[in-house]
Amino acid sequence: MITISGLRLSFGDTEVLHGISTRVAEREVVCIIGASGSGKSTLLRSMNGLERPSHGSIEINGHRLGPGEARADLEAVRRDVGMVFQSFNLFPHLTVGENIALAPRKVLGIDRAEARERAEGLLAKVGLSEKIDAFPGELSGGQAQRVAIARALAMRPRVMLFDEPTSALDPEIVGEVLSVMQGLAAEGMTMVVVTHEMGFAREVADRVVYMDRGRIVEEGAPEELFGAPREERTRAFLGKVL
Ligand code: ADP
Ligand code: MG
Repeated sequence: MITISGLRLSFGDTEVLHGISTRVAEREVVCIIGASGSGKSTLLRSMNGLERPSHGSIEINGHRLGPGEARADLEAVRRDVGMVFQSFNLFPHLTVGENIALAPRKVLGIDRAEARERAEGLLAKVGLSEKIDAFPGELSGGQAQRVAIARALAMRPRVMLFDEPTSALDPEIVGEVLSVMQGLAAEGMTMVVVTHEMGFAREVADRVVYMDRGRIVEEGAPEELFGAPREERTRAFLGKVL
């Protein structure tokens, strides 16, 4: 589903990704871990065309993003890829239902009734049916993040990207968001998740990628990476977070 080849990415004169290559198979769940500033968000954003490679390429579901202009591919990738951020980014002046229905109506052109129906189905899935006419300001952080997930799913993406989706939440409500994500994984959604939740990575990921200073240091099945890391840097990082 995703092939990243020799990806380098710079902000101005500063290169922050120094040649990343990896693949994500259809239905695979990959967790990316690593210290702050190691390039996790930049890598994830590049998979949605929010950052452009300076060298190398990213191919998603057959569409290639490289250093050059390719508007059609960029639009195709944005349709195929849903993204959920740490800060939920819901539109405060729209109801929950309208937040979810907006992109399907504007981008896919589906009618109001069908968009509402899609929103109802997705809210049931994330356990928030009763909130369809609420405004984002009336939701807890965990509820807002579940709405953000439903909103991303409304475009029926082939891939879902999550950038620290629980980092802004109080500890007691982290679980409700993780369990929605676990449900998605169980349904076979292809997912890339940047997270500090090592329990989630261990339980749900098919593969864990450890990044440091703009490079992939090590990747493997969770039992390998957590149980028997090969690299000294991985061991040092895990020693601090586990
Ligand atoms: P992480 O998500 O692992 O904390 P980031 O991908 O956010 O790391 O950042 C990687 C590096 O790129 C950091 O040194 C950060 O300061 C830098 N960086 C990120 N975004 C920008 C930007 N828009 N402009 C300049 N530098 C940036
Ligand atoms: Mg980040």
